[in-house]
Amino acid sequence: MHDDRELVEARLKRVLDERIRPAVYPESVPLEVAVWHAPGEPVPVAEGLSAVPEPIAVGDQWGAPWGTSWFTVSGTVPAAWAGRNVEAILDLGFDENMPGFQCEGLVYRPDGTPVKGLNPRNQWIRVGAPVEGGEEVRLHIEAASNPVILDYHPFLPTTLGDKETAGTAPQYRLARMDLAVFDETVWQLVIDLEVLGELMRELPVDGARRWEIMRAVERALDAVDLQDVNGTAAAARERLAGVLSTPAQPSAHRISAVGHAHIDSAWLWPLRETVRKVARTTSNMTALLEDEPAFVFAMSQAQQWAWVKEHRPEVWARVTKAVATGRFVPTGGMWVESDTNMPGSEAMARQFVHGKRFFLDEFGIENDEVWLPDTFGFAAGLPQIIKAAGSKRLLTQKISWSQTNRFPHHTFLWEGIDGTRIFTHFPPVDTYNCSMKGSEIAHAARNFKDKGIARHSLAPTGWGDGGGGTTREMVAKAARMRDLEGSATVTWETPAEFFAKAEAEYPNPPVWVGELYLELHRATLTSQAKTKQGNRRSESLLREAELWAATAAVRTGHPYPHERLDRIWKTVLLHQFHDILPGSSIAWVHREAEKTYAAVADELGGIIDAAQHALAGDPSAGATLVFNAAPHTRHGVPAGGASAAHTEDAVVLRPRDEGGYELENGLLRVEIDGHGLVRSVYDLTAGREAVAPGQAANLLQIHPDFPNMWDAWDVDEFYRNTVTDLVAADEVAPGEEPGSVRVVRSFGRSKVTQVLSLPPGAGRLDIRTEVDWHETEKFLKLAFPLDVHAERYASESQYGHAYRATHTNTSWEAAKFEACNHRFVHLEEPGWGVALVNDSTYGHDVTRTVRATDAGTTTTLRASLLRAPRFPDPETDQGVHRFRHALVPGATIGDAVREGYFINLPERAVPGDAEVAPLVTIDNEAVVVTAVKLADDESGDVIVRFHEAHGGRARATLTAGFPISGVAATDLLERPIAERRHEGDAVSLSLRPFELVTLRLSRRP
Ligand SMILES: [Zn+2]
Repeated sequence: MHDDRELVEARLKRVLDERIRPAVYPESVPLEVAVWHAPGEPVPVAEGLSAVPEPIAVGDQWGAPWGTSWFTVSGTVPAAWAGRNVEAILDLGFDENMPGFQCEGLVYRPDGTPVKGLNPRNQWIRVGAPVEGGEEVRLHIEAASNPVILDYHPFLPTTLGDKETAGTAPQYRLARMDLAVFDETVWQLVIDLEVLGELMRELPVDGARRWEIMRAVERALDAVDLQDVNGTAAAARERLAGVLSTPAQPSAHRISAVGHAHIDSAWLWPLRETVRKVARTTSNMTALLEDEPAFVFAMSQAQQWAWVKEHRPEVWARVTKAVATGRFVPTGGMWVESDTNMPGSEAMARQFVHGKRFFLDEFGIENDEVWLPDTFGFAAGLPQIIKAAGSKRLLTQKISWSQTNRFPHHTFLWEGIDGTRIFTHFPPVDTYNCSMKGSEIAHAARNFKDKGIARHSLAPTGWGDGGGGTTREMVAKAARMRDLEGSATVTWETPAEFFAKAEAEYPNPPVWVGELYLELHRATLTSQAKTKQGNRRSESLLREAELWAATAAVRTGHPYPHERLDRIWKTVLLHQFHDILPGSSIAWVHREAEKTYAAVADELGGIIDAAQHALAGDPSAGATLVFNAAPHTRHGVPAGGASAAHTEDAVVLRPRDEGGYELENGLLRVEIDGHGLVRSVYDLTAGREAVAPGQAANLLQIHPDFPNMWDAWDVDEFYRNTVTDLVAADEVAPGEEPGSVRVVRSFGRSKVTQVLSLPPGAGRLDIRTEVDWHETEKFLKLAFPLDVHAERYASESQYGHAYRATHTNTSWEAAKFEACNHRFVHLEEPGWGVALVNDSTYGHDVTRTVRATDAGTTTTLRASLLRAPRFPDPETDQGVHRFRHALVPGATIGDAVREGYFINLPERAVPGDAEVAPLVTIDNEAVVVTAVKLADDESGDVIVRFHEAHGGRARATLTAGFPISGVAATDLLERPIAERRHEGDAVSLSLRPFELVTLRLSRRP
C-alpha cells in the first residue's frame, strides 16, 4: 500500500479549519448594540441594567484598562429560522488563542438573572433549541476590559498592572454581536473529527488502529460536500461511527476528569476582579451542569464561594442548587489555595479551619482531599496539619514544573517531619487546565509513573483565570473517550471518587519523605518584601490578640472579639494566596495588600491594647507591667503572662585600635571593623569564635538578578556567578542606643543603614537593617560565614523544622539553592551551633567552603533581603524597607526556637500594677504553645495548641491558670477526638517528635 498518511492528515486539518468549523453557524443576523461605560469601579447589577446606553457598532473600540462596560444587545429571531437551534454569538474582541487573562463578560436577562459568562472560547448564549421564529431577544453584558498583562512576548515590564498607572486607551474592539443558527450536527462532526484526529496523531504509526482511524476519517471527508457541509454532515458522521465505537483496551489508563477552573484569587488582576471572575465562571458551570447530566465540576477556595455568596446572591442561588445535585462539588477545604512554604504554623492550620468550616456550615460537606494544583512547593510540616484538620489526601501538579529533576511518582505517600503520611496524587496530565485534547490524554497515560500497579489518574479539566471553566466541547470530547480504542478512558468524577479508586488499587504506594520542593519560583520567598512583612507581623499580632483577649476574657470577663478575629484571620489567610504572599501579583494587588496589612495591624493593636489594659490593674499606680506573648520566659516574665521585668547589666562599647568598635555584654564579644564589618563574634561562655577565619559577617552582597523567565517568581542559579561585596562604609559610629554601632553604606542608587547591638543579658547580636532600595534587577543578600562544619542545616517550618544539605552531591540537593525558613535557620556541630533569626524574611541559602590551607570547613548562611524584578510590577520593592535579624552563637535548636519567637513578639510595656499569671503553663521548653484562644463555638472553653519543637520526645505537664472541669484532645477545627485525663488543673503530656496537639479546656464555673 502506498503511504498517503501525511496527505490525509493535512486534508483533515484544512477541511476542518476552512469548511466544517465555519459551517457550525451557517446563517446569522446582526444584533443592535448599545453600551454604557461605568465611570469608575464596577457598579451593582441593577445600576448597570438601568443605565442609559449609547449606540456602539461592531468594529468600534471599547474598554479602558480595568473598566466596566454594560452592553445591551437586542434583535428579533428571523421567522424563517423557525424550528432551528439559535444562539447569540457575542465576541467582545477576544483573542481565542489565550483562554482567560483578557476581557470577559457576564450575560444577564433584563430581569437581572445571570445567564452565563462570555469568555474567549465560550462566546455563545442559547436563544432557543428550537426557536419558533419572531422571538424578541434582549440581553445585557457586564463586560470587564481587563488588560492583557502576560502577552505573546511575556514578562515585559508594563504599567497596565495598576489602575493608577494604566492610562485610558481602549483595550478591545467589538468583534461580533449576532444571532446565528447553530447546526448541532456539524458541531458534533467537528468534535468527532477532533477526537479522532488528535487520537490518531498520538498512536504509533506502525499500529493498525492509527490506520483504521485514518481510513475512516478519509471516508468521512469524502462524504462531506464542501459546498453543502450542513446537508452532508450527518452522512459524514455515519462513516465515523464504527471507529468511535470500538472499546478501549483492558489495560487502558483510566482518567477521572474533574471539571475545574483554576481561578487565582488575585494575580494579574486585583482582588475585586476575582469576585467577578468567579461569578462568571460559576454561572457558566451551573449552566453546563444543567445541559450535561454526566458532567462534574469541582471548585476549591472557600473564599471564592464566600465572595459569590456575599456579592452575587443571584449566582449563589444557582450554585447552591447545583451543589445539592452532587455534581457541583466543593473541594480542597482551605480558605484559599495558599502558598505552603511561608505561612506560619497557626496560619497554615487556620487555612483548613476556615476553609473546612465554610463548607461544613453551608453544605454539611467535609472534604478529605487538599486541592493545591498550582502552589509553589509544599513544606514538610504540611502532612501533619492536613491530618489534624481531618483530611487525608493531597493533589497538586505543580512539581511537574521543576526545572531539574523529574519526580519519581504520580501516586505516593508523602511523609512529613513528624512521620504523618498523606496519600498524594500528581495528575500526570501535568496541567490544571486540561482541555481534553488527545495530546493531553495520551501524555497523561504515557507519563504516569505508577503504571503496572496503578491505573487511575485525575485530570482537572477546564479553563481558569477568566477562561470560563469547562466548555461543552470538552464534555463532548470526554464522552467520545469514555471507552475508545487507543485512548485512555475518561469519566467525569468527583475528586473523592477518584481518590477512593486510586487508594483501593494501590494499597502500598511508594513513600516520599520531606518537603516537596519546587525547583522553580524560588524568588517568591523574597519578592515584594512588604507583603511578606505584612504577613509575618499579622501572624504575630493574631497570636497576641487571641492570647491576651482570651486571658482578659477568662480573668475579667472582658468581651472576646470572636467576630473581629474571624474576619481578620480570613483577611490574612486570603493574602497568603499563592500569588499574593509570594509577591507575584501586579502592583495594584501589592499596593492594596500593604494598606490592608496596615489596617489589620491597627485593629489587632487595638484588640491587644484593650485586653492588656483590662488585665493590667491600676494604670496610675506608677508601676509598669511587661507582657510577654512568646512561649518562653523572658526577663523573668513568664510565657503568656505579665509582670515587672528584670533589668540586665549594661553593655560595654569600646573603640578598637585598628578602627571600628568592640561590643561586649558578658556573653558575647563582637568586633566590628572600620568598614562596619563583623570580624568576630566570640562566645565567651563556650570560648569559641562564630565567624569563619578571615571572613566578615553581616556582609551585604549584591548580585545581578535577571532570570530567563518569570521575573518576580524566579531567581536562576547563574545569579551567583557575579557578586559585589558592599564593604565601603560612609559612616561607622556608636549608635543612638547604648551598646550599639551604626553603619551607613551607599551603593548604586541605594543606601543602607544598619544598627548592630548586643542586648543586655542575651547571647545574640541584633542587627537592624534599613534599606532605601532603588536598584533594578538586583538581589541583596546578608551573609554570615560561620566557623561551623555542618553537613545539614535546619530551617523552621510549620510546627517544627526541616533539614537540608549544605552540599550539592546530587541534582536534588543542588537544585535547592534558595529555600524557605520561618523564624530561624540553625546549623551546628555536636555541642555547638549558630542560629540566625529574623522578623520577616523567608528566602535564604547555605553553602560550604573548605579552606585550602587546613581543610577546615566553614558554612555560609545568607538571608535574602530584597530583589528588584520588573514584571509583573515594574516598581517591585522600590523604597524603604526595615528588617531585623539576630545572630545567636552557641545556639541549640531550642535556643533558635526561643529567639525566633522573641524577635517576632516584642515585649509590650503597659502601665499597671496587677501581675498577670499565664492562662496556660507548660513546664518543658521543648513543648511550644502556638495558640491560646477561646473556642470558636463561643462556649467559653479555652483552646490551647502546642507542639514538640526540638525534634525529640517530650514529657511535660500543662497547668491551666483557671479552674477546669474537663479536657479533650481535638482536631484543628476544635472538634473533640478524645477525652484527656486531668488532675486538678494539670494535664500530663507525652509527645513524639514534632507532634502537634490541640486541647479544649472546659472552664469550671
Ligand atoms: Zn494559580
